[in-house]
Amino acid sequence: MRRLSSFQGTNILRDSFLRKIDYLRISVTDRCNLRCRYCMPEAGVPSVGHGGILSYEELYRVARVSVELGVRKIRLTGGEPLVRKGLIDFIASLAQLPQQPELTLTTNGLLLAENAVALKQAGLSRINISLDSLQPERFKEISRRAGLEQVLAGLEAADAVGLAPIKINMVPILGVNEDEIADFARLTFENPWQVRFIEFMPVSSGLDYTPDQLYPAARIQADLQQVAELNEEERPGILGPARIYRLQGAAGTIGIIPAVSEHFCRECNRLRLTADGYLRPCLLSPDEIDLRTILRSGVDDEGLAALLEKSVAAKPKQHQLEESSVGGRRMQGIGG
Ligand code: SAM
Ligand code: SF4
Repeated sequence: MRRLSSFQGTNILRDSFLRKIDYLRISVTDRCNLRCRYCMPEAGVPSVGHGGILSYEELYRVARVSVELGVRKIRLTGGEPLVRKGLIDFIASLAQLPQQPELTLTTNGLLLAENAVALKQAGLSRINISLDSLQPERFKEISRRAGLEQVLAGLEAADAVGLAPIKINMVPILGVNEDEIADFARLTFENPWQVRFIEFMPVSSGLDYTPDQLYPAARIQADLQQVAELNEEERPGILGPARIYRLQGAAGTIGIIPAVSEHFCRECNRLRLTADGYLRPCLLSPDEIDLRTILRSGVDDEGLAALLEKSVAAKPKQHQLEESSVGGRRMQGIGG
């Protein structure tokens, strides 16, 4: 089913439920320099080998055709995107696309201090930094590696070069770090950042935290209301799963992403490309298209566009988290 329509000469990609799909998340690697207990096994992931992940040329081609179809925002994620060599040049090539999509990156921040200037110069628009504790020992406990100081240096460097607005992603987990919600929220008083609280998704097997450690959006909101008056922000025309608030008098904002406790699928605007080259219509749907094999079999741009449209058409109305999982994958293989 072709859902491509044209509006004032600009392509628009719509799924079967008429949602506009204009956001592509690309996982550029499944490797990572941390081992967060809610995401990765201690031993890391089995290597898929050099040819197992898409080359930058292949990724560029998927991005270019997606943008021609109507994608307006590309997020690079992982694994940890900054561990893949050549990422800066890849971003620079995406920045040359005539449609000038917004280019963003989600990173754990460990390698950010030394890369912030180059990322900005390459054309990155802004950045999300994942950080689950402001306490060095706890950071190490959650991510199985030391590194809080490096992440904070990365945050400072990203701020200094203007990769703004900086968004900080925090996953509160009951009995682990939920007592830091107020500390994270207070960062927004002085800094024009967006601190986002993402519900823990107990979606892969073998993680160190259990489903009963999910700290629901309602409790996050109640904790925030203890810090100061919490006002919801108007976001006319902006889609996406986050609910946005501002603490009274704060320079920055707060996001709550009720990934599990509420269905935000009505607002879904995204497609995902996994590091090993599978197009995934929904984070929680195993209904993938093996783009890697198809790209390597010499498909032309029209064929590639048809597959992207097929993946968009396969987007489910909403995920069934209760009945689903990430289908044998872990979050780092999909990109969160
Ligand atoms: N390594 C990068 C980072 O950590 O920002 C990018 C990849 S990571 C998979 C992307 C996001 O997914 C991070 O913000 C991380 O906290 C989040 N994430 C990973 N596993 C999760 C889970 N089980 N529940 C909720 N969020 C998760
Ligand atoms: Fe690595 Fe990001 Fe997963 Fe942590 S959340 S293990 S930093 S991919």
